[in-house]
Amino acid sequence: MLVKKDVFGAMPDGTEVFEYTIENDAGMSVGILTLGATIHKVVVPDKNGTPVDAVLGFDTVEDYLGKSNYQGATVGRFANRIGAGRFTLDGTDHVLDRNEKGKTSLHSSGEMSFKVWDSLIADSDSVEFSTSVPDGNHGFPGNVKATVRMTLDNSGTLRIEYAAETDRPAPLNLTNHTYFNLAGGGDILSHELKLNCSAFTPVDELSIPTGEIRAVAGTPFDFTAGKPIGADIEADDEQLAFTGGFDHNFVIDGADGSLRPCATASCAESGISLTVATTLPAVQFYAGNFLAGAEGKGGRPMNKRSGFCLETQFYPDSPNKPDFPSCIFGPDRPYESVTEFRFSKLG
Ligand code: BGC
Repeated sequence: MLVKKDVFGAMPDGTEVFEYTIENDAGMSVGILTLGATIHKVVVPDKNGTPVDAVLGFDTVEDYLGKSNYQGATVGRFANRIGAGRFTLDGTDHVLDRNEKGKTSLHSSGEMSFKVWDSLIADSDSVEFSTSVPDGNHGFPGNVKATVRMTLDNSGTLRIEYAAETDRPAPLNLTNHTYFNLAGGGDILSHELKLNCSAFTPVDELSIPTGEIRAVAGTPFDFTAGKPIGADIEADDEQLAFTGGFDHNFVIDGADGSLRPCATASCAESGISLTVATTLPAVQFYAGNFLAGAEGKGGRPMNKRSGFCLETQFYPDSPNKPDFPSCIFGPDRPYESVTEFRFSKLG
């Protein structure tokens, strides 16, 4: 195992951005930026031993600030959407910045994703990032301190441990927004995906959950037995029409706070397989429907559906949905979660 630290670039104010590269003994490496604690690259040997960069990203700080759809970023303090950009907690109304179409709060306006985090090499195989966001930022309550520790082991598992503290009761929901492409290029429609999720949360036309928890059986959302991402993505279905393809919160079967596998994606062409495990109750499967051709690493275009995300999370809009698992943390209830991305060879 080896961890090295290089200068990646600089912010407009001159603050340096570093990239940490963690390399394991099996020829796999992960590059993580201090900007947004962002996963910049994940290089995995394919079935022929040729290295494939399995994630989307950019070559420069400027592009990460100017063209990003959250490629690789750590998202917090509240990943995903909050309806109408407001919620009430303990009788107090909180009005948030509505950064999406002027109507909803998305990814808490990127408050953690586009800033430079503090960082340190925590061990021979791991790097720890930390940051804080102030009370009232984008309308959110609580001074929040967050830590994200990323570890790569020799079995090909990238483990992400999140911890956050708030000094007043507040919603917290942290995730990682990597777009995977296990072929290293092209679209992801022929990737096979299996989700251990028998239900999902349908949304309205602004992608806000209606509150219903709907069985996937008999719908295009049924990935329980595994199928190509592209198999039903164009199906005539109101939910798919609202979001332009899969972009929904899937409820993980049997979620109980322990680390359990929720998704497996694989690509026959490269022979690379990815298994996601999490302690969280849900995962947003987003098929990259809104990618619009921005040039990424090495000039590679990020077109519609050239990457997919598996964002482990609390349910979107849970601050407004008392029946959803509670995302409210406080001085006596710190936030903690673990998500693992395990890369292996197919078959
Ligand atoms: C959302 C998508 C959004 C993407 C980038 C995902 O978490 O579900 O709708 O386009 O983030 O912001």
